[in-house]
This record gives sequence, structure tokens and C-alpha cells, in this order.
Amino acid sequence: MTKVIAIANQKGGVGKTTTTVNLGIGLARKGYKVLLIDADAQGNLTDALGWHTPDELHITIGNHMHSLIEHEQFDPNEGILHHDEIDLMPANIALSALEVSLVNALSRETILKRYIEMVKDSYDYILIDCMPSLGMITINALAAADSVLIPVQAHYLPAKGMTQLLQTIRRAQHINPQLTIQGVLMTMTDRCTNFTKDISNQLRGMYGDHLNVFIAEIPRAIRIAETSAYGKSIFEYDPKGKATEAFEALVEEVTE
Ligand code: ATP
Ligand code: MG
Repeated sequence: MTKVIAIANQKGGVGKTTTTVNLGIGLARKGYKVLLIDADAQGNLTDALGWHTPDELHITIGNHMHSLIEHEQFDPNEGILHHDEIDLMPANIALSALEVSLVNALSRETILKRYIEMVKDSYDYILIDCMPSLGMITINALAAADSVLIPVQAHYLPAKGMTQLLQTIRRAQHINPQLTIQGVLMTMTDRCTNFTKDISNQLRGMYGDHLNVFIAEIPRAIRIAETSAYGKSIFEYDPKGKATEAFEALVEEVTE
């Protein structure tokens, strides 16, 4: 059974794309077949995997979603890019236009889900890198996912932001009742301070004991910031580093 995980948080710069790349490649290294879907018109995921000018790509997730809206025939595998260890369905600026046209589309929340159903049999895991907003594309990602993983920057516990995100997840559960919260992932933590336990307790206090906070936390590491420029994962770039260890631990928790 393919597992579809949306990586979402409407707050910008919390580590969604970084988590998608390194969790995805971590899963691939354990032998799983993995597809990453860029669901952000900025194309950061596409860029991070080595396609540095996403706007020059001709076939992206935007095209396929457009074809579904317009009932056009298309080959769902066209445009899937092959990175060393994983596959990628890229995105670029065309996704912004698509988001506008979704407003009047029929079954507009489930267009991405329909695309994923066309390709999912080839993969064990499909990870969707969401944009920093709770608009229609993110709703599509949540409607298509089995679970959502929420990266949170440990220093700025975004209480209000979390409430909005959880409301959106609840909305998506009306369309997609099986959607669960896989967990909250603390990112960019500093080694000298150990906030996580405290923040985990605070989060659970606010949102209930059932909210899973991953034991793995991703340390702030310059090596992580460098990887995106090289189109490599942390596993390849810094195999013995703390951040690599952290993503390995996250992979274990996700596959448990
Ligand atoms: P957006 O909301 O714009 O999509 P995002 O949530 O996807 O952002 P990232 O792009 O993954 O966040 O990370 C934001 C920036 O922080 C990037 O420049 C990235 O390289 C850097 N970064 C991410 N995680 C870490 C980390 N653990 N240590 C150091 N830098 C990091
Ligand atoms: Mg991003």
C-alpha cells in the first residue's frame, strides 16, 4: 500500500522542503520507491534536487492538474524527473495560475488526489511538499494524503498558526476522513538548548495528548543550508553529520 504524506505548515521557512528532500531520500535509501511532488509554485523542491530553473520545465504538476480540470487526455508519467535516488514531479510558476483556475473547477479539492491515483502504484511513498499557505493547492495536498507531517521551527512556537493549520486539517478531513496527523517535527533546533521536551509538552497541552511530536528533531546545521545549492541530500553531502543522524531517526519513526 502506497503511503501519501503531505509536509505542511503555512508558516514560511520552517523546513518543509528540506524535510521533504531528506525524508524522501532517507526512505529511498531503505529500499522504498519514493515520489516527491512539488506543490509550491516557487519550485524550491525542484530546485533543491538539481533542476535550478524550474520555470523552464515544460511539464509540471500544474500541467497535469490542468489536464484533469479540462478533461484532457494525458500521460501521468510524462514530466516525472529521475534524481539519483528518487523520482520528482516538479512545479513552477504555472502552479499559481492553476490555483486561480481551481476556484471554479468541479471537485476542485480532489484534483491532485486524482493525479496521485494515476501514478501511486509505482511507489511505496509519495511525499508532497506544500507551499506556505492554506490555499486550494494545500487543501488538494491534504485531500490526497493519508497523513500530514508538520515541521515547526522550535524557537517560535506558532500557537495561532498551529490552530489555523489544525482547523484546515479538520476541513480536509471532511473530504478525506482517513487523513491523520503523522506528527509535528521540530526543526532548526540548537544543540545547546533542549527545548523539544518542553515544546512537546506545550503542544500536547494545547492540542491534546494524541498529537504526536516526533522524538527525532532536526538540528540547525549549516550543512543543511548548503545541500540545496548542490542538489544533494544530507546523506550524501554529510554522511556522518548530526543532521544526517536526525533524518535517519525520522525515517525510522515514519516507517515504524
Ligand atoms: P517555504 O515556506 O518558503 O516553502 P520551507 O518551510 O520549505 O520554506 P526550507 O526551504 O526547507 O523551508 O528552509 C528554509 C531555509 O532554511 C532554507 O534556506 C534551508 O536551507 C534552511 N534550513 C532548513 N532547515 C535547516 C536546518 N536544520 N539548519 C539550517 N538551515 C536550515
Ligand atoms: Mg518550501
